[in-house]
Amino acid sequence: MEDCHVLLVIFPGQGHINPSLQFAKRLVNLGAKVTLSTGFSAMNHMSRPQIPGLDFAPFSDGYDAGLKPDDLNDFWVSMKTRGSDALAKLITARKEEGRPFTRLIYTTIMYWAGVVARGLHVPATLLWIQPATVLDIYYHYFTEYGDLFRNCSGNQVVEVPGVPCLGVRDFPSFLFSTETNVNYDLDWAIEAMRDQIEEINVEESPKVLVNTFDALEFDALRAIKKVRMVGIGPLIPSAYLDGKDPSDTAFGGDLRQNSNDYVEWLDSQPKNSVVYLAFGSYADVPNTILEEIAQGLVNSKLPFLWVLRETYKGEKPEEKLRCKEELEGQGKIVRWCAQVEVLQHPSIGCFLTHCGWNSTLESIASGVPLVACPLWNDQFSNAKLIQDVWKMGVRVSGNEEGVVTADEYKRCIECVMGGGEKGEELRKNAKKWKDLAKAAVKEDGSSYLNLKAYMDEMLTLKS
Ligand code: UDP
Repeated sequence: MEDCHVLLVIFPGQGHINPSLQFAKRLVNLGAKVTLSTGFSAMNHMSRPQIPGLDFAPFSDGYDAGLKPDDLNDFWVSMKTRGSDALAKLITARKEEGRPFTRLIYTTIMYWAGVVARGLHVPATLLWIQPATVLDIYYHYFTEYGDLFRNCSGNQVVEVPGVPCLGVRDFPSFLFSTETNVNYDLDWAIEAMRDQIEEINVEESPKVLVNTFDALEFDALRAIKKVRMVGIGPLIPSAYLDGKDPSDTAFGGDLRQNSNDYVEWLDSQPKNSVVYLAFGSYADVPNTILEEIAQGLVNSKLPFLWVLRETYKGEKPEEKLRCKEELEGQGKIVRWCAQVEVLQHPSIGCFLTHCGWNSTLESIASGVPLVACPLWNDQFSNAKLIQDVWKMGVRVSGNEEGVVTADEYKRCIECVMGGGEKGEELRKNAKKWKDLAKAAVKEDGSSYLNLKAYMDEMLTLKS
């Protein structure tokens, strides 16, 4: 067993670091050694958990001071070029030292690491860290259904296997340009996704590990004939799932400092009374959107915990809000929190989220219903699943001008927090998904068994 040594190559962002660290812990628990590799743009800034069997092998991606969304086009080329070279050297050196990597696993869009591995005869696997449904969408877009998506407009819908009917507003934002709420230059992203799908297709019967679970995306996991997708999630700390390791309460690789100054306040709030708001680790939310959310929150009069990161320009977003003073006293604004822990707190009644996949899964695993406010990327498709498939949240809608108003935010928050029939239904469904998530990672659960089978396959292939 000791000879199973995985090189885990991940994109240097929080949304990749968190599930990957949890994935690494699970592989280590099953007897593998894992070396986690990513660029210095993240590795220079993140805490590194001390776990026997896990070590780190950073490479220079050319952005050692840290990565900003505006850098992404140039960064992508820099990381790919430097990273390919560094990984090839690392894999070759380890082989020459007699302690070779037996497998390379890479996260979504890091397909170039798979190319390097293939060139050096190391088997490679994709760890997909978005929903299976989103892989279905991209796969079908880049194979036989591209025109269907491109020709879809107005109120038309697209039907592809394993995916609920999608309108334009439900497509991942890389497939359309009109409705996205953040305007980074993302030419590289759609090409990266195309190349990612091509890399999956190189193999005759590829297998993809997906951070989801069978009950949540049963059809989506089985929707691509050629690709065997297996759910191995949710990849969140074990203390909140099977409870086998009560000390495993955090991912352990934060890029930002947690102030912790909200814990006492949360403890003092009644059960299910607090609205938690956060927009992930990456995108700056435009002020126009923050203004409407803040006003909606003030009008709801509900207590809240709101993660408002400093912008990349170093501004504190709350200082610009017109209703700044009214917000003070109603709730708490923090720069960063231990989100998985917060979502488990009994005082939290709903999560107003950008629908990043980690945030969504963390909410599912905590049984917290959602207000879905997608900004970009896969978040639009995730919002569709949250509202229409899993029925554990409501999605905000724009008015005729496409603006989501304060009234709409208030309506959605009150719907999820409220004691009416709809609120009850959402809470009941959220609880159902939480129970199913927990069941999936137990020793007889689908995600546990899928990961165990993957480990067995790695060992068989090696011998
Ligand atoms: N997160 C956190 N504290 C915060 C905000 C976010 O720990 O204050 C974590 C969150 O738990 C999740 C990750 O950051 O694991 C964000 O990933 P997600 O996929 O939701 O969004 P992204 O950052 O990729 O947009």
